[in-house]
Amino acid sequence: MNRHVPTDDLTAGQYLADRIGKDGPVSLAEYMEVANARYYGRSDPLGSKGDFVTAPEISQLFGEMIGLWLTDIWVRTGRRTDMHYVELGPGRATLAMDALRVMRRFGLEPAVHFVETSAALREVQAARIPHVQFHDDISTLPECGPLFVVANEFFDALPVRQFVRTASGWREFLVTYEEGRFLKIAGEESADILIPANMAGAPEGSIYEMTPASGDILHDLGQRMKRQGGVMLIIDYGYAEPGHGDTFQAVLRHEFADPFEQPGTRDLTAHVNFAELAGLARLMGLNVAGPVNQGQWLQALGIGARARQLADGAAERADEIMAAMARLTDPLQMGTLFKAVAISAGDWPIDAGF
Ligand code: SAH
Repeated sequence: MNRHVPTDDLTAGQYLADRIGKDGPVSLAEYMEVANARYYGRSDPLGSKGDFVTAPEISQLFGEMIGLWLTDIWVRTGRRTDMHYVELGPGRATLAMDALRVMRRFGLEPAVHFVETSAALREVQAARIPHVQFHDDISTLPECGPLFVVANEFFDALPVRQFVRTASGWREFLVTYEEGRFLKIAGEESADILIPANMAGAPEGSIYEMTPASGDILHDLGQRMKRQGGVMLIIDYGYAEPGHGDTFQAVLRHEFADPFEQPGTRDLTAHVNFAELAGLARLMGLNVAGPVNQGQWLQALGIGARARQLADGAAERADEIMAAMARLTDPLQMGTLFKAVAISAGDWPIDAGF
């Protein structure tokens, strides 16, 4: 990953314009990879003063529920002492802080590993979790001991490829640069062989999205779970049925923005195709729980009781705590758009909350 990172004195836009000028249009995935490497690498985009707010930044309840879910699995599998907590794209490490605090209370103190490419965010993370071990990608994660892998709003940031059904079959969308603007165009070569069977006959104008990196990551971690044990929890916004069209989007200061303007200055994402991730995990012979809606999952784990307990202990913050819980669970807020899926190998139990 991050094969295409502009050198420091170029903006992502200048780098992409040069590259397209020399070699012709690039895939949407390459455009997104260059833009996001620059976007995340330079600064911390999270929080009310940044561009977007994630679930762990809304309330400690979110990370605590994940910590409880992992603790329950750990207790049921014999309280092993060789555990690793692995987080993919941990942002400000808020989720990890909340989850690890809960785990510690029950005696679970795993080694902590963050897979993070952003230098700016690594600084924030190391200040909060001094004993963390950093990884540029998953290949250097430990080879021994079960892995508890958590990924919240990580898969949506991975580069997406897009295909469109035209009158003459499927074509990949490419990004070109003309008259000072980035534009999406359909490529000339047939992409029919890349389209899964359930989309092949879709009507003209249909769009299919594919995130190659997510399949690679799932495949590698799935193999590790078979060898080393452990579980993986993925939470993100996404869809559980195929055929959702164009989900490539940009967010800047809490508003949707044009993803083709000033790459590297805004958060580019695509919704996660949970059906495909779950399907791949099943093909690998792994256990899959979900996807279920985030709201339903958090409620099944007891977020309501924990919120009331927190509110009882801090009367002046009670309204704020209950509002944060609603934001995480309400179907009109994050409750339905966000989904959770859990994956494991062998006897590692992932059923709680699903
Ligand atoms: N999980 C956090 C942050 C989500 S933002 C939260 O919920 O608040 C996405 C995170 O993924 C950031 O930390 C970003 O730097 C990281 N990231 C994006 N692409 C990455 C990649 N290819 N490899 C590793 N980390 C990546």
